[in-house]
Amino acid sequence: MVGLVVVCHSRALARAAVALAAEMVPGKPVPIEVAAGLDETTFGTDAVAIMTAIAAADQGDGVVLLMDLGSAVLSAELALEMLADDQRDRVLLCPAPLVEGLVAATVAAAGGAGRQEIADEATAALAGKQSHLGAPAVPSEKPDERTRTGPSATFTVRNPHGLHARPAARLVTAVRAFDADVEIRNRSTGSPWVPAASLSRVATLGALSGHELEVRAGGRQARAAVDQVVALAGRAFDEAAGVPEKVVTGRPGAGGLAASPGIGVGPVRHVGSGRPELPEVASRGAAAEWQRIEAALAVVRRDLRRLRAGGGAETAIFDAHLLLLDDADLLADVRSRIEQGTAAPQAWSAAGERLAAEFDALADPYLRGRAADVRAVTDQVLRSILGLPAAALLGSGVLVAPDLTPAEAASLDPEQVVGVLLAYGSPTSHGAILARSRGVPAVVGLGPAVLDLPSGTTIALDGSTGEVVVAPAAAVLADFRERATELSARRTRAAARSAAPAVTRDGVPVAVGANVGSLADARSAESNGADLAGLVRTEFLFLGRESAPDVDEQQAAYLAIAGALDGRRITLRTLDVGGDKPLPYVPMGAEANPFLGVRGIRHSFEHPELLAQQLLAIIRVAHDVPVSVMFPMVSTVSEVFRARRMLDEAVAAHGAGDPPGLQVGIMMEVPAAALKAAAFAPHVDFFSIGTNDLTQYALAAERGNPALGVLADGLDPGVLRLIDAVCRGAGDRVHVSVCGELAADEAAAPILTGLGVRELSVAPAAVPAVKEAVRAVDLATAAVAAVRALGLPDAAAVRERAGR
Ligand code: PEP
Ligand code: MG
Repeated sequence: MVGLVVVCHSRALARAAVALAAEMVPGKPVPIEVAAGLDETTFGTDAVAIMTAIAAADQGDGVVLLMDLGSAVLSAELALEMLADDQRDRVLLCPAPLVEGLVAATVAAAGGAGRQEIADEATAALAGKQSHLGAPAVPSEKPDERTRTGPSATFTVRNPHGLHARPAARLVTAVRAFDADVEIRNRSTGSPWVPAASLSRVATLGALSGHELEVRAGGRQARAAVDQVVALAGRAFDEAAGVPEKVVTGRPGAGGLAASPGIGVGPVRHVGSGRPELPEVASRGAAAEWQRIEAALAVVRRDLRRLRAGGGAETAIFDAHLLLLDDADLLADVRSRIEQGTAAPQAWSAAGERLAAEFDALADPYLRGRAADVRAVTDQVLRSILGLPAAALLGSGVLVAPDLTPAEAASLDPEQVVGVLLAYGSPTSHGAILARSRGVPAVVGLGPAVLDLPSGTTIALDGSTGEVVVAPAAAVLADFRERATELSARRTRAAARSAAPAVTRDGVPVAVGANVGSLADARSAESNGADLAGLVRTEFLFLGRESAPDVDEQQAAYLAIAGALDGRRITLRTLDVGGDKPLPYVPMGAEANPFLGVRGIRHSFEHPELLAQQLLAIIRVAHDVPVSVMFPMVSTVSEVFRARRMLDEAVAAHGAGDPPGLQVGIMMEVPAAALKAAAFAPHVDFFSIGTNDLTQYALAAERGNPALGVLADGLDPGVLRLIDAVCRGAGDRVHVSVCGELAADEAAAPILTGLGVRELSVAPAAVPAVKEAVRAVDLATAAVAAVRALGLPDAAAVRERAGR
């Protein structure tokens, strides 16, 4: 292969140009050497350094030299003079522009071109830019008799940014591999035929998304070359439209973060929000209606900030949406409508539409396009005012969305949604937890480019590994289907034994419960063999509506859950809102760090009427079925005293005495509480370790932040030490459970049970597999391994030891 040498005044510039060019030919290393700068930071060129670079780049087929300006050319000529004759004959100084020329030269060299051909390619590299910017048209190629009579085909460019440098390089590299002359033209623009083996000429086609291109070829492998081009075009030249780096086209490989196990294969479906129907409602007074607007704005602002925190190309869009929410003109219009007696939804909808219509009327097409942004964000606020989930899936397939709020995830229908791909989110966000509990495979944290995947593109995803393949080839699809079959065989085996208790190999029973967020979850928990509901997230009864459920409604809902579980114990956690779970009808002040703010029990103490009502409903239920009541986000013993006092008041208000079998416990999710476990133990019956929050607080890694998904691993020895502290502080009387997502992690069962945990509560669909994992544990061995894990440096080491 011919080598390349870059002679340049700046070392940094040369290296960056080489990196850019190398990206065009992944997996095909071209020998490129750099002779640039006098040192890392001083500009200049040096003939001796150029000679050294030439010697290093020459693998026998010679070298093409590209230079930047002025003395670079002189130094290169001087270097050439100093070379031995036979060496000098193999070196060609190329007059091409450095960056464009290097890219074209690299692609040509990777395709096996000779020195002169590489230099010609590089020299013509400005043609694409020139023709794009209206410089004199590139002369049409002389028609080639061989290609004119050879096989041909047409295809449409599917890449959203057209046949830009990377897909064009892919095309050129592929074509060069054939013993054929291949030509290509843009039928949509009527361009002349150009050689498809020339990157610079392909660039002159100006091929945009949707353009129809024609390819023809002559020579021994003409047919194969044409077929290959058409196949590549069908795969969007292995770029697929806007395919994110974490999504692999056509072949298995890297992915995002595994968030909900299972295999999903189906077409991309984007979440459609759309304008919701406006209910016929009268104003409840200007103050109340304006408060609804403010509450909805706060929710949407928070959601947008969360999405924005994911970073990436969409940040600017979210910034623009956030600005719109504070638009003085829009808000003044809404306020004036409300003051004239209009209800909040109508006032917001009319003002938003007026603003969007103003954008519609603008002459500038870019600004006109902003009307869509106005409608998107005002619809989002309208949905929040109405207490509706934002996401709605149109048709069945793989749902692709920026992120899912808990309310949206709760409405996923596994019959329709065969998988979920999220640009943002993390495996312990509430959206991911709900996807798991619905049994919908999900991969999260894929980055914003996943949102550009065209609707209908086939996706294969593995929610256990995080792997995502776009437009998979037949063999890949077959592999995914095989995995699905294996998984289903394993699940069938586990399901057959799911109703039986989980007992370790050395005879210790471990209860495996289910985390339940709805009646449907409770039914699923029962059919999956859950021994109890180890966590009922009662907040899902309070979300997605305009006012809180009253005592009767709560009692009925809790009883229905108990009924679905056939009388098994239910662990009712009191309202755990704040953080990523706001209530639309309980206005919350803005908090810089909501996860460190008024959440869980703190929120309940700020709204004692809500907690009192909920405790009354729980006490009523506890007279009929076995109930455990659990308080979330407890940090101090005094909070337990206060919560227990309110519980006693509820018992007194009910007037039927202490409910039989009522157990009282707390979530252990604040690191300080975990370390003080012994102080809590005399005042409760059980501890339930919420590893989702415990992990985020212990590692200072927000649970919804995809950038921290790997860091926020509950198997980090720091987190395990906190779990160990809880188990030791609990003593013999207090029962310890884990209800965070870690409990369902394949590697976790031996470690958690080894530390002393005797109950695991997981998504309903995970119950059978977790029971199987417990059955494989030998507690004596597990206890030793668990203590060893505490001394390991990080989660990766723990996983390696556990063989996962
Ligand atoms: C936890 O924090 O681990 C937990 C189970 O509670 P949630 O996920 O509902 O915050
Ligand atoms: Mg929690």
